[in-house]
Amino acid sequence: TAACEKWDNVDIVHRGERITVRGNRFSGIARLRFLRVLQARCGELGVDLRFHVSVADLSVLPAHDLLVGADGANSTVRRANESLFQPAVEYGRNKYIWLGTPRLFHGLTLSFVEHHSGLYASHSYRFDHQTSTFIVECSEATWRAAGLDAMSEPETCAWLEEVFREHLDGQPLLTKNFVKWWNFPLVRNGRWHGDDVVLLGDALHTAHFSIGSGTKLALEDAIALSRAFATETEPRKALPLFEQNRRPRIEQYQQAALDSLRWFEEMGEYIHLDPLSFAVEAMTRSKRVDYEKLRQRDPDFVARVDAERGGRR
Ligand SMILES: Cc1cc2nc3c(=O)[nH]c(=O)nc-3n(C[C@H](O)[C@H](O)[C@H](O)COP(=O)(O)OP(=O)(O)OC[C@H]3O[C@@H](n4cnc5c(N)ncnc54)[C@H](O)[C@@H]3O)c2cc1C
Repeated sequence: TAACEKWDNVDIVHRGERITVRGNRFSGIARLRFLRVLQARCGELGVDLRFHVSVADLSVLPAHDLLVGADGANSTVRRANESLFQPAVEYGRNKYIWLGTPRLFHGLTLSFVEHHSGLYASHSYRFDHQTSTFIVECSEATWRAAGLDAMSEPETCAWLEEVFREHLDGQPLLTKNFVKWWNFPLVRNGRWHGDDVVLLGDALHTAHFSIGSGTKLALEDAIALSRAFATETEPRKALPLFEQNRRPRIEQYQQAALDSLRWFEEMGEYIHLDPLSFAVEAMTRSKRVDYEKLRQRDPDFVARVDAERGGRR
């Protein structure tokens, strides 16, 4: 929509040098704006939306033909039906925190800082004309060495503003009063549905934020589910069709997201590299993009890497 920000560059900032890699297609929208678009569509379709109502017990729900658990990574629907869905939830080793900043980052910017307390990475991108998302991650050892486990919210922001001072151009970090460090949950489910219940989005599968696709996957799930019902009207037939059509794609994304998550956990192994070589490692981390694909996306960047490597021989 017109509300989307679009960009094609990933900037990798290492040892103060910014390396720009073009040819990557991104589209972003402020979350609140996006929710308003979805709510308006629900209004057009006559969906009865209820806000600020938390369903803790599924037995309070009215009689239904189908229950769709689109209730996020912590899904109540999934937890109430564990023997059916056979979920596996593992947690990433790095700590991360989701902040904002008025510093505008044009394109996805991955910044790396070697600090006396350890190694930090930030993932930042602008989502409207005033604000950028600024996600910080680091190992648990760094987090503890810095004392971040015991810091208040203002202390945390002040510490990270200092760590990323050059990258933020002196701009502050913003919170929304619910800021917290997390370990990323990797959600998978052995089974996706019962006879009249199905999961979608993060309740069904998560993909690490470093590949930035969780919302897209959740939306595509909803589209795939609606298409399955356009082919088969009975849940007993439509739900297996949904899983059959959708599972291979999700497994591909989850593997790429897992490779990307692990790369950030092991970023210390690459940090000794010069900025160009480091950028190649960062761009190929999910294994979805290899050196040849990188060449197709940004021939100038790869020519620069080739020239540098040739010059070193
Ligand atoms: C740090 C971070 C950055 C990310 N960045 C990106 C990005 O750049 N791009 C991207 O595509 N994705 C990103 N994601 C992933 C994205 O946020 C999720 O994949 C996406 O929000 C999943 O949508 P969902 O509808 O399945 O779940 P959610 O967005 O979690 O929505 C679930 C809804 O269910 C409601 N709910 C839950 N339990 C109950 C209950 N018991 N009763 C009533 N309501 C309930 C919740 O209030 C919520 O409204 C990021 C995730 C993280 C953690």
